[in-house]
Amino acid sequence: MTVKCIVCGNDSFPIFKVDNASICKCKLCNLEFATPMPSDAVLEKLYSDYVYYTEYDREMIRDTVRKNNRKNIEYLSRYGLSKEQRLLDFGCGDNLFVMEDGFDNWFGYDYPQNELGAPLNSKFDFITLWGVLEHLPCPIKIIHDLSQLMEKGGKLVMTTVGTETGIPYRYRYPVHLTWWSRQSVRELLENNGFKVLEISDYFMIQNPKFYLDRVLDRGRVPTKIKETISININEDILVPTNEILIVGERM
Ligand SMILES: [Zn+2]
Repeated sequence: MTVKCIVCGNDSFPIFKVDNASICKCKLCNLEFATPMPSDAVLEKLYSDYVYYTEYDREMIRDTVRKNNRKNIEYLSRYGLSKEQRLLDFGCGDNLFVMEDGFDNWFGYDYPQNELGAPLNSKFDFITLWGVLEHLPCPIKIIHDLSQLMEKGGKLVMTTVGTETGIPYRYRYPVHLTWWSRQSVRELLENNGFKVLEISDYFMIQNPKFYLDRVLDRGRVPTKIKETISININEDILVPTNEILIVGERM
């Protein structure tokens, strides 16, 4: 039986097996997606005790996250982001993005509870999803629902795992459920009332020592060899990632 693409509805083909699921790739838009999607119960359990930073020193990671948040806020000023704009950070984790400048008009929401009290019955000028899209079992529904929280001209900003950046990515099922080509992003936005303003490769600020550790871990370099490799850069560096940055405008 052919599995239909969850974004554009065309036929897909299986490319990979993970646990009890398959990863399928759409023949038309090139979206890669898991099937079947995990149940609500599985996801609720996963995210009720989700640990954001397991492998690295928590404070160091928070510092890096904050620097990237500042970079992103500055970048989005070109699309009109300011403290006067009402912003919803959907899937905000520990809410560091909203707290970066403590703006009164910015709100965080996180799954499964809206413990931060974001007013989801009102309208927003900006909605951000930083590394959230790939976690959603039904991205079309969420993006449609979020589109209802915006007026014409509102901006939707996302980063997600891109399949065309040239940087390898992993199939972390059931944490990640979708992997996005540029065409699939276009389908997602244009079918939900958004014009695409930007899809670009996403770069992030990294602490060089942490980045080296990460690269060595990913390459599964043995500890004995790892101990002999060091880096002598003390300033933060801007590095390419396997993510893409997407900006859409509500039509
Ligand atoms: Zn498709």
